[in-house]
Amino acid sequence: MATAAPSKRPAPDATSLQPAKKTHWSQGLLASMNDPNLVVLSDDRIVIIKDKYPKARYHFLCIPKINVKNLKSLKREQSELLRYMEEHSRILAAKYPHVEFRYGYHAIPSMSQLHLHMISQDFDSPCLKTKRHWNSFNTRYFLDSADVIRCLEERGMVVTMTPLAGEKLLDQPLKCHKCIYSPQNMPKLKQHLYKHINN
Ligand code: AMP
Repeated sequence: MATAAPSKRPAPDATSLQPAKKTHWSQGLLASMNDPNLVVLSDDRIVIIKDKYPKARYHFLCIPKINVKNLKSLKREQSELLRYMEEHSRILAAKYPHVEFRYGYHAIPSMSQLHLHMISQDFDSPCLKTKRHWNSFNTRYFLDSADVIRCLEERGMVVTMTPLAGEKLLDQPLKCHKCIYSPQNMPKLKQHLYKHINN
């Protein structure tokens, strides 16, 4: 009896059995931009999502829909997009009239795809755990949106900092953002922050 020659072609549904390609964690914002549990506002140019690991009571990320890897890849003519991102973040902020926000970018972001942080200044969150977390929002590592826009318009590019300079800022001693208190550690800082929160 003749035996059938082994087929070189995959069975019709073999490809669907292969495990989905895993994306790197640094691409996570791209998935979150389509996550209805995180999206709070979306139009043809931007998406505003809740930060998945918020470092304050209110922490959002405004992300352009066009592909922009990071601050360094911005061209002068894209300052208008940055203005649009800040403007729409401020419109969202108007829903929280008693909340103080800052709007800015991490000089050396960990996540791919440009994102503007909109973060309330209470820093009351269980996800805020480390000195690096604190310093990333409370030193020159946090670049104010207005300064970034001005730099892009005046110099045609966004000047950030070297990784070494960034590391030094993240490693700076802790300091309260509202007063001169310099706590020894994060638990002491977190305890202290309640003095500044008007509940
Ligand atoms: P950075 O890249 O340093 O500007 O910060 C990235 C921010 O994205 C952090 O505040 C994270 O908590 C937040 N984050 C990380 N992964 C995700 C995700 N998959 N979806 C939403 N936010 C995220």
